[in-house]
Amino acid sequence: MTLDAALAQRLRELARGPAPLLVASDLDGTLAPIVQRPEDARVPPATLTALERLATVAHVAIVTGRDLATAAALAPVPGVEFVASHGHEASFATSTLPATGLSELIEEVTGDIETRFADTALGVERKARSVAFHYRADPSLAAPLREALRELPEGLRLQPGRLVLEVLPAGGGKGTALGALIERFLPGSLLVLGDDLTDVAMFEGARASGGRVLVLAIEGGTETPAEVVAAADAVVDQGQVDEVLALLVEALADPPPA
Ligand SMILES: [Mg+2]
Repeated sequence: MTLDAALAQRLRELARGPAPLLVASDLDGTLAPIVQRPEDARVPPATLTALERLATVAHVAIVTGRDLATAAALAPVPGVEFVASHGHEASFATSTLPATGLSELIEEVTGDIETRFADTALGVERKARSVAFHYRADPSLAAPLREALRELPEGLRLQPGRLVLEVLPAGGGKGTALGALIERFLPGSLLVLGDDLTDVAMFEGARASGGRVLVLAIEGGTETPAEVVAAADAVVDQGQVDEVLALLVEALADPPPA
């Protein structure tokens, strides 16, 4: 599928706007197609190549709810930075992100949920700073899971996503994550890409940055939340992300004659 001509033009204009350009992208559902089990997710080789090329001409960062080690293993791309664990871990030194130390509390919640949902298809994903409870295999678990997580210990919060509820330290979020990237790179122009509710804070952070901004909602089927689409400038199919990245590389490498 070819990119919409108007969107292609907007991407070219963004690439030729105030420098430097920062491209901040979500990982799952945006760079990596959604799969049934999160441990099976992969960023396609063509996308890794596109990211690597882009990182030679722009600042590129992956902003994800995955922990840093997992994210870096999924996208081992030279020159790409990471803000992981929903804004609680970064691949670079930053004073912007909140400090965390709540792993015991998170483990207590995890053990409790594992006991209560022992005989169900609930998927439990332990991460470095959080735990994600996936009900993709049985969406009817949404209501009982939400009820079980209604009252969390102080210092923790609940983060809903696409067929997942995640428990993580309070604070952080992708708005905070983008703030750390803006502080580091001082971008004149920003492209942000995301597919889920957690990404809306990053979209809003980009718009508040004062730079030139383009926000793309990534669609991978019918489950992209309406809030994500509403907060974006355009919607792009997940299979078109490589094309978006490649178009930026081309525009950045070959500016039009002045
Ligand atoms: Mg996502």
